Amino acid sequence: MSPTHIAVLGGGLTGLSSAFHLSRRFPLANITLIDKQKSLGGWASKTERVQLPGGRGSVLLEGGPRTLRPNAKSALELIHLLGLQDSVLTTPKSSPAAKKRFLHVPGTPGIYEIPGLRLSYLWNELRFFISPGVSFELIRGWNRPKDILDESFESFLTRRGHPVTARVLGSALVHGIYAADARLLSVRAAFPKLWELEEKGKGRILWGLLTRSKKDKEEERLRDEEDSKRYELGDVTKLMDGTAVYSFRDGMSTLPKALARAIDKNPKIRVLSDTKITSLRLDEEQAFEITTNKTSPILPSHVVSALPLPVLYRLLPESHSLPYLTTNPFSSVTAVNLVFPSDKIYPPGFGYLVCRPEDDYKADDAGILGVTFDSNALPGQDDLTPGTRLTKVTRRNLPVVLAHLQYHLNRRAPLPEPLVVKKWEHRACIPTPLPGHLERMNKLREALVSEEGPWRGRLEVVGAGVKGVSVGDCLESGKTVGMEW
Ligand SMILES: Cc1cc2nc3c(=O)[nH]c(=O)nc-3n(C[C@H](O)[C@H](O)[C@H](O)COP(=O)(O)OP(=O)(O)OC[C@H]3O[C@@H](n4cnc5c(N)ncnc54)[C@H](O)[C@@H]3O)c2cc1C
Repeated sequence: MSPTHIAVLGGGLTGLSSAFHLSRRFPLANITLIDKQKSLGGWASKTERVQLPGGRGSVLLEGGPRTLRPNAKSALELIHLLGLQDSVLTTPKSSPAAKKRFLHVPGTPGIYEIPGLRLSYLWNELRFFISPGVSFELIRGWNRPKDILDESFESFLTRRGHPVTARVLGSALVHGIYAADARLLSVRAAFPKLWELEEKGKGRILWGLLTRSKKDKEEERLRDEEDSKRYELGDVTKLMDGTAVYSFRDGMSTLPKALARAIDKNPKIRVLSDTKITSLRLDEEQAFEITTNKTSPILPSHVVSALPLPVLYRLLPESHSLPYLTTNPFSSVTAVNLVFPSDKIYPPGFGYLVCRPEDDYKADDAGILGVTFDSNALPGQDDLTPGTRLTKVTRRNLPVVLAHLQYHLNRRAPLPEPLVVKKWEHRACIPTPLPGHLERMNKLREALVSEEGPWRGRLEVVGAGVKGVSVGDCLESGKTVGMEW
């Protein structure tokens, strides 16, 4: 049955994208979008422009996501459909911000450039950590245990390479994306290509990568071309030629703000912001009933949940609970934006990641997971000269400890007094998919579509906790929701 009234629960990027695309696919249906916050956008709404004292200009501070990759077509499509081309700020592949990324190894002052396939690898300090992993990867044959369907990212890297490489590079990468422990994260959910390359290379990932034949590449190109037909991209792909990452002149909240404006203009969509959903039930006739703290019950024909999975779990009565909504843990982080009066704080580059200490995380360490050199990565967001902005992400709630930064950046002189310090405390903001996540999400889907069950495909569950945490993944799940309705 085609939907007559769709309720979208949660107005983060996933919920906004769902409401926007559903209104295009079902122009006759009424849509109600509900979010507990006054402003929509969830984690992607944490952008603030700050005027500096003394007419020094303004800086843009991001507390949530800061960059997007150009391969996320769902985001490019929205840029086209919402007319955001003029707001896009790109970081070219040729710029130092795209080419240079650094690593800090706890216990050693300074940061090291992560080497590419260049001669300079031979005198790069990180070769001691990388070489064992690469060498073992090349000489070891198929060693995936027979009956495993998934494992942690660290266990995968250790099995294929070496524990030291896994700890140093693997943990840092996972800090940068999930702010989580690589020993917990599912390799298949987070890095599915690595799992496939291992199969393709008959055990060896690097072999799988290097032996991609012309035919494989051509097939990939054709698949990509076919996939592009699902999107209205206009000329936005041209804008992304030679782009490593991108954002917007006024930061990531440009995207949810533009989506919210488009949704507001549509008379078929009712937005209930500042409204907390308190339950999602089915009555005796199996019809939906949504209660909130502000409105009378909402009675839609179809529902999209774009809420964090544990929130959905708490809204459902025990008689209609769904499996695996509370299996995965979430990371909580503190993001700290610092703006300095001097522009000689850090080297050219995107920023650095911090790997897990050799003797494990400790309760009393600084907990710094990574630092982005924001003025380098997206200089067009500020009108501040001279000056520098950076953001560090720590796992715990910590005071701003400039001494750690001084040690990481290997500076003799203390850092100057920052002009601005902005701290964002994010509780339970990024889910960590544990090994087996893909299978569990398939079972969740089966429970939702089963003709014997109460939901019979009328409830879809999407969002960062289901398919992928990146902005592109969230926008994509909004685009594809309700395809079977
Ligand atoms: C600090 C940080 C940095 C990140 N950096 C990047 C990056 O650089 N690049 C990238 O691609 N991705 C990044 N991400 C990931 C990405 O931003 C998120 O995964 C994505 O924004 C999640 O969107 P969502 O809509 O699924 O969830 P959310 O943003 O969590 O939205 C859920 C919504 O549900 C609402 N809600 C919750 N409970 C209720 C209730 N009871 N009633 C009504 N409403 C409710 C909330 O208010 C919220 O608006 C980052 C994430 C964080 C936290």
